[in-house]
Amino acid sequence: MTIFGAIEAGGTKFVCAVGSSSGGSLRSATIPTRDPDSTFADVAAFFSAARDLGSIAGLGIASFGPVRVNPASPQYGRILATPKPGWEGTDMIARARAFLDVPIGLDTDVNAAALAELAAIGAGLQHLAYVTVGTGIGVGLVSAGRSVHGIGHPEAGHIPVRRHAAHGDFAGLCPFHGDCLEGLAAGPAVAAAWNVTPSHIPEEHPFWEVEASYLAQLCASLFLTTGPERIVLGGGVMKQERLLPLIRGHTRELLGGYVDALRSIEDVERAIVPPACAEPSGLVGAFLLAERSTRSETRGG
Ligand code: ZN
Repeated sequence: MTIFGAIEAGGTKFVCAVGSSSGGSLRSATIPTRDPDSTFADVAAFFSAARDLGSIAGLGIASFGPVRVNPASPQYGRILATPKPGWEGTDMIARARAFLDVPIGLDTDVNAAALAELAAIGAGLQHLAYVTVGTGIGVGLVSAGRSVHGIGHPEAGHIPVRRHAAHGDFAGLCPFHGDCLEGLAAGPAVAAAWNVTPSHIPEEHPFWEVEASYLAQLCASLFLTTGPERIVLGGGVMKQERLLPLIRGHTRELLGGYVDALRSIEDVERAIVPPACAEPSGLVGAFLLAERSTRSETRGG
């Protein structure tokens, strides 16, 4: 059996694993994110100790952003401007290659998650959006089976949204835009606006309608722009199961019957779904990136 390495590189933790996208992780470890030197020293130690499982054919990195994702760019794999101390300019691929000299594939954590969810759902689908609602709001897009990159990677978590009246004059927390979607609806914004965490909010609290109305605006915008066959909603905030049906209902209202494939509530229930991967989608996606990297190097490009 061919085995691969996977790194889901997040702002608070790096999850490292050895295994494959179809077989899952044979071994994994969670490493707290500190400065690049100490973090990658622990990552290197994990993969060194994992040599007893066999030889690793390729490595995939599902990275926090912003990160240069275009393989043709001389900066491919570098972290761009980030408030995380010490990380700006870090070359994720060179850091990994220093301890594991194998083909390496890299994409954003959310694009990798979108690839993984597409593979998990199967059914011949080609177009999918993966949304994570947690400390931030990230959106990964796969179109025609490939993750979407343009001038950068998708940043749909920062779209402007129509404010909900019940949100009062809450200014929003995004340092760039104030009341963009992430500024209004990510976990820290929820805590700041309502002085509560989503796991401790009573049923009659206005939070549910407000949060669902914002996330529905994202879903409607995604359907109207890139036409995904599925939108997968994951992340810490989405662990509150009451949100999903509310978001579906608001999305259908916002679309107003305009999109033929999304007229009925059943259509929308089929199209907006929770994650299907057995392990975290970003980690499974990192395995997929590893597997693709070895195939592309075998083809000579
Ligand atoms: Zn923003």
